[in-house]
Amino acid sequence: MRWLSSADYFARLFMNAPNTLEGLRFAALEAVLQLAEVNPVHARPIFSAVQRQLVGEGLSTATGILPPVQRWLESDTAIPLTKMALVDETPSADGFTRKYLLSMPDRAEVESVQMGFPGRFTACLSSQVGCAMGCVFCATGQMGFSRNLTTGEIVAQAHHVERELRRTNPGERLRNIVMMGMGEPLHNFEPTMEALDILTDNRGLNIGPARVAISTVGYIPGIQKLARHPKRYSLAVSLHGASDEERGKLVPINKRWPLSELLEACREYSALKRARVFFAWTLIRGVNDSDDHAQRLAERLQGMDAHVNLIPLNATEGFDGQAPDDARVRAFQQIIQNSGLPSTVRQRRGIDVAAGCGQLKARKKS
Ligand code: SAH
Ligand code: SF4
Repeated sequence: MRWLSSADYFARLFMNAPNTLEGLRFAALEAVLQLAEVNPVHARPIFSAVQRQLVGEGLSTATGILPPVQRWLESDTAIPLTKMALVDETPSADGFTRKYLLSMPDRAEVESVQMGFPGRFTACLSSQVGCAMGCVFCATGQMGFSRNLTTGEIVAQAHHVERELRRTNPGERLRNIVMMGMGEPLHNFEPTMEALDILTDNRGLNIGPARVAISTVGYIPGIQKLARHPKRYSLAVSLHGASDEERGKLVPINKRWPLSELLEACREYSALKRARVFFAWTLIRGVNDSDDHAQRLAERLQGMDAHVNLIPLNATEGFDGQAPDDARVRAFQQIIQNSGLPSTVRQRRGIDVAAGCGQLKARKKS
């Protein structure tokens, strides 16, 4: 076994992308072991300890790793663990939602959310600290962009949620992952894809790829790459407007990636993956909630295998719009349904602790 200096590792393996044990795919872990002249058969017990037993800092408590390999893992020449501490945990009064505030060594913070009930627990993960897309009604957009999360930091969020689940609901485990937290996942494509590859690995948490949803504001180059990615995750696209003019006022990147091109990319995705595309529409009173908007939305999606998720606006500090009343939401949905499109109204969960759609942001620094 060769004990390479950590400088050697980073130079040879992670030239531009610092990584951690949690952020290594199985094949990457095998490659690291090979470089260190450790037999790659040890990849399996190490991967299992990190990704299934979720030993975290307690690597020494892991079962199945031979003592010399264990010692190598604990030496300062091996790959470090992700540094992401759980600093706050806020349960919602709704009993279905729990928000986690996680902090990283550079003092960057992100939020992740656990949702659901036994048999159907979901983790809502962040992909970036802040977001560069600037959607006017979104708290993450309002805070601006700080940095991308690494693969390890995306994976570690799921680990935190899963550990809490095991502690509070013995026998339960995470079933679903939605990339609907802070940031635009397709704007941080590779780390997001690597993280999902790790989380869906059957040697790890083994989340079914069909139970993973990636939500995008309409980042077309990412949708095109996702359509050609080997795994079939569920794609959700945030629309909010049925014309460039209307959508551009809410979603500034519509100017760069206009609606017709976006819908073309969605059609291509649906055809290549033989998959339904989910469209999110945040309903804002007097802005995009009329019968006419519903009609035009339905026309835009004609002929596509599509499902519409309606999200009544959640309050954020930087936007003074209102959600429509329930009757308006139902009328809007009825028009969509009448056109033959399936739709769902997203339940308002976690609003009391600002864990709802578009409400996530890092705590203000003093
Ligand atoms: N950046 C991705 C992933 C975040 S998902 C995306 O935008 O799709 C967050 C979802 O909540 C998106 O559909 C977004 O449009 C929606 N959203 C943002 N702010 C909201 C708010 N204040 N109320 C309701 N939904 C909101
Ligand atoms: Fe970014 Fe999505 Fe918020 Fe838009 S809605 S600012 S893309 S996180």
